[in-house]
Amino acid sequence: MFATCLNCIDGRVQLPVINWIMGNYSIKYVDMITEAGMDGYLAGKYSNITDILKKVEISINLHGSKNIFITGHHDCAGNPVDDTTHEKQITAAVYLIKKLFPDLNIIGLWIDDNFTVENIIEI
Ligand SMILES: [Zn+2]
Repeated sequence: MFATCLNCIDGRVQLPVINWIMGNYSIKYVDMITEAGMDGYLAGKYSNITDILKKVEISINLHGSKNIFITGHHDCAGNPVDDTTHEKQITAAVYLIKKLFPDLNIIGLWIDDNFTVENIIEI
């Protein structure tokens, strides 16, 4: 019923991401954890992700979430890299989170310049 989403703070991508997740998975509520440029933050070598993981664990342990979505989007102010780099960072972040939560389904989402959401990796 609940899913977890590691998303950018950007207000333009919140509803597209929530609507896409609810439309493509049997999920009623999306626990949203945000950071400016979440994909780059998670993929960054020197980022401290302790606080993010604490929130993910609440979503998993108290809401029973079995799916963690990680997003990156076009024209990201918090992570101003090109789209190819975004996709690499989303993939790296998905593998990182999968290593920490091997029993859960981890999905990487890309949001393009039309705010179309696409599943680019699911492990
Ligand atoms: Zn952003």
